[in-house]
Amino acid sequence: ILTTTAPVARRETQAFLDQQHQLLIDGQWMPAASGKTFEVTNPADGKTIAEVAEGDKADVDKAVAAARRAFETGPWPAMTASERGKLIWKLADLMEQHIEELAEIESLDNGKPKAVAAAADVPLAIDLFRYMAGWSTKIEGTTIPISVPYLEGAEFHSYTLREPVGVVGQIIPWNFPILMAAWKLGPALATGCTVVLKVAEETPLSALRLGHLIQEAGFPPGVVNIITGFGETAGAALSAHPDVDKIAFTGSTEVGKLIVKAAGDTNLKKVTLELGGKSPNIILPDADISAAISGAANAIFFNHGQCCCAGSRLFVHRSQYDQVVEGVAAEASKIKLGPGMHPDTNMGPMVSRIQQDRVCGYLDIGMQEGAKALVGGKRADSSGYFVEPTVLVDTHAEMKVIREEIFGPVVAAVPFDDIDEVIATANDTIYGLAAAVWTKDISQGHRIAKRLKAGTVWMNCYNVFDASLPFGGYKQSGWGREMGYEAISLYTQTKAVTLQIG
Ligand code: NAD
Repeated sequence: ILTTTAPVARRETQAFLDQQHQLLIDGQWMPAASGKTFEVTNPADGKTIAEVAEGDKADVDKAVAAARRAFETGPWPAMTASERGKLIWKLADLMEQHIEELAEIESLDNGKPKAVAAAADVPLAIDLFRYMAGWSTKIEGTTIPISVPYLEGAEFHSYTLREPVGVVGQIIPWNFPILMAAWKLGPALATGCTVVLKVAEETPLSALRLGHLIQEAGFPPGVVNIITGFGETAGAALSAHPDVDKIAFTGSTEVGKLIVKAAGDTNLKKVTLELGGKSPNIILPDADISAAISGAANAIFFNHGQCCCAGSRLFVHRSQYDQVVEGVAAEASKIKLGPGMHPDTNMGPMVSRIQQDRVCGYLDIGMQEGAKALVGGKRADSSGYFVEPTVLVDTHAEMKVIREEIFGPVVAAVPFDDIDEVIATANDTIYGLAAAVWTKDISQGHRIAKRLKAGTVWMNCYNVFDASLPFGGYKQSGWGREMGYEAISLYTQTKAVTLQIG
């Protein structure tokens, strides 16, 4: 672990952290109705960096009422699609002016390297808003020729309208706080919905900064409401609220199931889910081995393995197994752990003590079940929540480290002998978020891509994202898709209108 002191945050970042952080409801910053607050810590050293309002059901009720008013009346529904798009674009411009500050907030709150937040998280969020701003003016219905057998001779003009679903509750996780906020807000705003955003309790800060920029951009009051608070209170109240038309959730499969249940028990609100994964990364014998090794390391170690699409099961053909696992282990041992704000840090801490314990719990169970760590395998000695990048070998199909999502920098390597076998093993999971295959035989690669049960398949690459590419899961990795036109379509509903002519 890098022990030299990390640079202090810039003046504007510190000034933001020192503010009294409140809830954004109906265009106003306000304390929680209960008056409660909670502390936000820097996972690199466990110290408190900010205090935020602890919103719960009473605040959610207020926020939903504000979102409903903003959706039904007021300037938002009267705005043209072009005006909506301009506002979203303006928000992206404002974010661009504050990249460094947003990256610092993200790094201090989540633990990720500031350089990564400044090069990936924040620019991807900006790009997403610009992409979605463009969609505002392109949400179109169709005209449909109809012929009604029992109304012979009658003429009709039928068309569809694509209308916003309405008031949307959005619940996001801590692994990519600002990017997840963008993935959720972008399509909702482009389609004319209004939003109550419940951010993760571990990482509320960048979304609050975004809230200030949303106001500066000029969105009407109530269009975006932001609630900081806990899942079991604020999150549960939002998902059970009878006046919320849709919930978009990203997080664990376990909580995803609670959201579906809450929707079913209340008003059958629409639900989209982006949940866990246990993604297979397959290296075929003809792959460019050095590219595959660094790709496999990136697949699991990017964002400290706290990615729903992390390549956590590494399948390597037996002929190259030793070379690849040793290569990935060598990459792991080069990774410098440190505070996200340190310029030499490659990997920061886990987001929280709980997450560190969860990951280390899996490591302990894995070892007890017979797995061996080629490198890493334990927490790093520090007041921060660090876990050593780990490569596990000698695993077998029934181990927890193979079956369950660890959500940390831990890859389990498994040798295989033939393609049918590896595809069957790769698909032998309750999840289906992502997968990858490394080969020079492109036809073979496409055949395998077709057989993998996953919402994303990368070929000779990993962790490649774009605002235009739909992202989401097969099986228990989720419902629906984020980004691309698919996200737009999931924030709209179709109305069929029929006129009898003459
Ligand atoms: P989580 O699912 O508990 O939390 C995600 C979000 O859901 C947070 O905003 C949280 O406040 C909210 N939430 C929690 N309980 C809720 C409830 N009953 N009703 C409504 N909202 C609720 O995730 P976590 O505990 O932070 O992490 C646990 C595991 O989830 C991780 O180890 C990982 O496997 C998985 N995870 C997946 C993703 C992803 O991107 N798919 C992100 C974070 C965590």
